[in-house]
Amino acid sequence: MQNPFLEPSTLPYQLPPFADVRDEHYRPAFDAGFAQQLEEIAAITAQEGTPTFDDTIAPLEASGGILGRVGHVFFALSSSDTTPFLDELEAEIAPRWAAHADAIELDPALYARIAHLHEHPDASWMPEQAWVVEQWHLRMRLAGAALDEASTTRLKELNQRLATLTTTFDQQLQADTNDLAVVVDTAEELDGLSAGDIASAAQAAADRGLEGKHLITLPLFSGHPWLSQLTNRALRQRVMEASLARGTRGNPHDNRAVILEIVALRAERAALLGFPTHAHVVTADATAKTPEAVDAMLSRLAPAAARNARAEAADLQALVDEAGEDYALASWDWAFWTERLRTARYDVDTQALKPYFPAERVLRDGVFAAATQIYGVTFSERDDLHGYHPDVRVFEVHDADGSEVGLYLLDLYTRDSKRGGAWMNPLISQNRLLDQPTVVMNNLNVPKPPAGSPTLLTFDETNTLFHEFGHALHGLFAIVGYPSVAGTNVPRDFVEFPSQVNEMWMLWPGIVEQYARHVETGEPIPADVLERIRATETFDQGHGTSEYLAAALLDQAWHTLAPGETVDDVAAFERAALERVGLLLDTVPTRYSSGYFQHVFSGGYSAAYYSYIWSEVLDADTVQWFQEHGATRESGQRFRERLLGVGGSKDPLEAYRDFRGRDAELAPLLARRGLE
Ligand SMILES: [Zn+2]
Repeated sequence: MQNPFLEPSTLPYQLPPFADVRDEHYRPAFDAGFAQQLEEIAAITAQEGTPTFDDTIAPLEASGGILGRVGHVFFALSSSDTTPFLDELEAEIAPRWAAHADAIELDPALYARIAHLHEHPDASWMPEQAWVVEQWHLRMRLAGAALDEASTTRLKELNQRLATLTTTFDQQLQADTNDLAVVVDTAEELDGLSAGDIASAAQAAADRGLEGKHLITLPLFSGHPWLSQLTNRALRQRVMEASLARGTRGNPHDNRAVILEIVALRAERAALLGFPTHAHVVTADATAKTPEAVDAMLSRLAPAAARNARAEAADLQALVDEAGEDYALASWDWAFWTERLRTARYDVDTQALKPYFPAERVLRDGVFAAATQIYGVTFSERDDLHGYHPDVRVFEVHDADGSEVGLYLLDLYTRDSKRGGAWMNPLISQNRLLDQPTVVMNNLNVPKPPAGSPTLLTFDETNTLFHEFGHALHGLFAIVGYPSVAGTNVPRDFVEFPSQVNEMWMLWPGIVEQYARHVETGEPIPADVLERIRATETFDQGHGTSEYLAAALLDQAWHTLAPGETVDDVAAFERAALERVGLLLDTVPTRYSSGYFQHVFSGGYSAAYYSYIWSEVLDADTVQWFQEHGATRESGQRFRERLLGVGGSKDPLEAYRDFRGRDAELAPLLARRGLE
């Protein structure tokens, strides 16, 4: 049988032929894919004469067909339905893929051609073409393509050492987190937890050979979800202190030396690339452009967030006092008293809302119906088309005039072979160069109910589905020339914006009443419940914003160290960084402390943790626009054409101005978080 990755799929919309893929197809396809793209690049650089867009950028954008096809399917499966074979293959392919990317991005002959185009733009180029040249030039310069041989050698050494250090950081963090899981001797100490949570703590202890005891394992962030329920204050303190101590205990899992070396090497690499600091490298291809811009925004929010957190702490202290307790509120008490205040003030138990969110109704009468109302697109299920698993559903998307938009695949359920979280991934990226359509996919991790019972979503899962579908629409609405700038191929500090915006439809008046109906009675969710849910929007936001900003500013502090600038004491550095911005609050620890700040030391968000709130500024400003202009087809068309459709094919902030008529303002975000 022919290897299905070697030629484009003949299925509608070039949907990957999942049913034909066998394990033995991957390795030969990867081999052929790496070789094909290197040959294509060699053919570009072998040409004589002055480089042009058509003989350099166009074939570069068109290159790597086999690799794209096998890669999209491979990474979809290794994330959503993996096997020991795929896991093993991933460990083998990841370093080969990285080396392959280096071979292209550090190719001096290719860089010379692109640098020439960059310096001699052609007046006949479309604006998108000029932007694509700009992006390739920047990407290769940031990868180090402009360096001389000695610097390239040093760069490769730094990259290798950093790869090792980030792996060490992860392994030590995992070991220390396991080590610090809190052992509880008696079930009485777990008072406040549900029977199910107590049972899972007993199981966790038994799994470690601690029969008869209970174990509280730690999540990545500071604190623990159970702190809101545990009535035993001493136990709350043990859990919080264990969480905060990770990676900094002077034991063999101590991450402090690793952190200091990581930031020093990143600063050295930045200097090699011609930038003052690592944060300058990262923001160079972000919409923020400079760390100063990031700092200006974060610093504007910090005082208001800290002020609100202090006011919230005073409210909580009053509750402690009213309850006749004699202690000063500590960080381990925050969630516990906040939960009591939430119930007293708003009487909302989001867990009890599940019967109002039947998955099928949320999808068809909520997520899809909102897209029909706003953007005119309609959805029809294609039972004749299949994904990699029977639970994957395939929908065909049509425009208001009946023309084809693309395919949307949904894999809703959790399974042992799927990684955690929720995400969107493109399977085929729209572009005119190769005349390709769009196929996008959403994954969630909703528990599958027993056969015959309807799937009910939690409030958060419903929100997640709207969010991920926002990424999917960003992909589906793409109308660009070149694949590297289609859909969600936008800077990291911009990519969450369209998905955050789509969350607005979840509780939008007129939409929520249509889909949030009781699974048995069909009654819409009561208006007073909706009102109370909306009223909780600013609740506890001083705390939430402060812990987030503290982490974001800590990330910036580590990554704006100049080359050669040294730090000896991690804890002192951390305290000074938070104190400088007024966020050193006893009762509100940073969401991640350095010893376990995985996002920025090993997870690809170094100097970019600010991105979440950066894109939320655009989100809140956009929600305000829709509130003023209405949830109409006309409003939707403007947002779709001027912003979603153009993807990364122009400066994203210019696209934002095209849509909004001005730059984003901070006020709507401040209002949303109660920070005015
Ligand atoms: Zn997202």
